[in-house]
Amino acid sequence: QIEFIQALSLPGNKEKTEPEISEAQRKRMTIEETQKSLPIYPFKEDLINAVKEYQILIIEGETGSGKTTQIPQYLHQAGFTDGGKKIGCTQPRRVAAMSVAARVAEEMSIKLGNEVGYSIRFEDCTSERTVIKYMTDGTLHREFLSEPDLNSYNVMIIDEAHERTLHTDILFGLVKDICRYRVDLKLLISSATLDAQKFSQFFDDAPIFRIPGRRFPVDIYYTKAPEADYIDACVVSILQIHATQPLGDILVFLTGQEEIETCQEILQDRVRRLGSRIKELVILPVYSNLPSDMQAKIFHPTPPNARKVVLATNIAETSLTIDNIIYVIDPGFCKQNNFNSRTGMESLVVVPISKASANQRAGRAGRVAAGKCFRLYTVWAYKNELEDNTVPEIQRMNLGNAVLMLKALGINDLVHFDFLDPPPHETLVLALEQLYALGALNHHGELTKLGRRMAEFPLDPMMGKMLLASEKYKCSEEIVSIAAMLSVNSAIFYRPKDKLVHADTARRNFFVVGGDHLVLLNIYKQWSDTDYSTQWCYENFLQYRSLKRARDVREQLVGLMQRVEMDLVSNPTEHVNIRKAITAGYFYHIARLSKGGHYKTVKHNQTVMIHPNSALFEDLPRWVVYHELVFTTKEYMRQITEIESKWLLEVAPHYYKSRELEDSTNVKMPKVMGKTKAELG
Ligand code: ADP
Ligand code: MG
Repeated sequence: QIEFIQALSLPGNKEKTEPEISEAQRKRMTIEETQKSLPIYPFKEDLINAVKEYQILIIEGETGSGKTTQIPQYLHQAGFTDGGKKIGCTQPRRVAAMSVAARVAEEMSIKLGNEVGYSIRFEDCTSERTVIKYMTDGTLHREFLSEPDLNSYNVMIIDEAHERTLHTDILFGLVKDICRYRVDLKLLISSATLDAQKFSQFFDDAPIFRIPGRRFPVDIYYTKAPEADYIDACVVSILQIHATQPLGDILVFLTGQEEIETCQEILQDRVRRLGSRIKELVILPVYSNLPSDMQAKIFHPTPPNARKVVLATNIAETSLTIDNIIYVIDPGFCKQNNFNSRTGMESLVVVPISKASANQRAGRAGRVAAGKCFRLYTVWAYKNELEDNTVPEIQRMNLGNAVLMLKALGINDLVHFDFLDPPPHETLVLALEQLYALGALNHHGELTKLGRRMAEFPLDPMMGKMLLASEKYKCSEEIVSIAAMLSVNSAIFYRPKDKLVHADTARRNFFVVGGDHLVLLNIYKQWSDTDYSTQWCYENFLQYRSLKRARDVREQLVGLMQRVEMDLVSNPTEHVNIRKAITAGYFYHIARLSKGGHYKTVKHNQTVMIHPNSALFEDLPRWVVYHELVFTTKEYMRQITEIESKWLLEVAPHYYKSRELEDSTNVKMPKVMGKTKAELG
């Protein structure tokens, strides 16, 4: 039992607290009736006229009012795609782009990929006929490289602008510039909240089109005391709501796939034990790597006399609207990519959300009727520990990739680029330095031939460099597999709770000398030798879907490699070359062993640890290169490979000096662990 206290309510603009349309009615509604019930519908003609009249329009309307799914259709019907030019609509998240495109195709009764399609990194579901194209903001950013004037578009909608992702922020500057010389291009900036005024000012006082939302009041409850384990608290709260509250679906906000899966497992387990003592509970996850057939399920109507529980990342905060949510459970956290501009270190961290986010989340409970939001933190924490707003990504992320793209677009003067909010100066400088060290820029800050080739790949500059370096080290076949496996940022290994021992043994069987990158390669190779067998994945506790995705990504990367005229060469026995190619890209991510089995990053002396899942967890090599840092209880390195320090002088001579790389002699290592692989034989 968790004790909640009600503290305040989110006011609504609806008098009645009863739904206007009952759930049963809603389920029977045709697509057309549903479209007409959306808050945006009465404004259809006004909106079309406004787009005809003004080149740039800011659109503000609450989440779920129909902006993303309806506006492109309205403009399509009004003739904005006549002549075959497209309407583009960007989304910060891939799931949103896919799911919304699928929905619009359904509403228009056509097959997805024909007139309506989507394009996300490593996946293009569009055709010659596509006139309504949803895409991630990153994809549009890349499209500028091949079509700098966006000539194939008549209308561009920058949607979910309030999310302020790094790509969206950079797009603001790019599209604003284009509108000056493409007077026929219509630009819509669409946002869920508050920021409309700011967007309007940025876009030379563009008019704001407001869509009044419908909002029922939401009662807000806080826990009496802080909760130590919020996953457990979620499970308890779900069951508590299920046992005591009238039917109505529940939306729970968690931080990522792993957490969602854990929560799902615990919940299913408890539900099973309660058996027929409770009503049916339909548990559905949603996160960015969820396969599309599973995504579609969250929109299926709840069966009668049952309750749906959606376990979501903050994708459900504004990007996706799930109808009939009455209860929201908000633990108050999200996963953020954080970048320390002093040390240049990036890591994924679970952080408290902002007040603005908390209120968005609560608002999701009041779309169809009066709702309740259960916050798993105290009212004191809300008032004192949450920031008012989330800091835009551009001010807290590594800009390496963004800067490379801008340079590739011929934008050299980044300091004077038209930013809505400029990034910190030191972050920009650091990005330039990093690109210089990687060889993508020369000392005038101009793009080199290598940099131009790196920009061809939709990859982080470090990974791009690794891939290109594999040419020199004659192992591009192997490196492209590794790059593809690293790009699948969901779990490769399957670890069911009741078979942990088996799963871990299976995982260890893939271990090879050298480290995790080579383990990934080993898995990929063995899998391809089975002709990509599903059964083999199953037997080896590997997630088939993740491997399949790696295969797709690999195919795309190979296509791009051919475009930049890179040969595919293989050198399966020469692991040193593979490790050198990895180091050539990731020499920023080097740590060396220091006292007590800890590692310190070379440049900034930051303490980091080997992740317990690593193949090198018990080895403790002196020098390692890591793929990423993840902060949980400690700063962990994930995907690690053993290297030799002298390679750093070979692959990054302008970044490392030999004196930095002397092995510290005062390091005392435990006996066995101190021995190198060679000594152990
Ligand atoms: P907004 O962009 O203003 O937040 P949307 O256009 O995303 O609003 O949502 C409008 C309506 O479309 C919502 O009621 C939502 O539930 C519904 N919807 C969106 N995607 C899907 C989908 N894939 N399946 C079913 N309904 C959907
Ligand atoms: Mg939307």
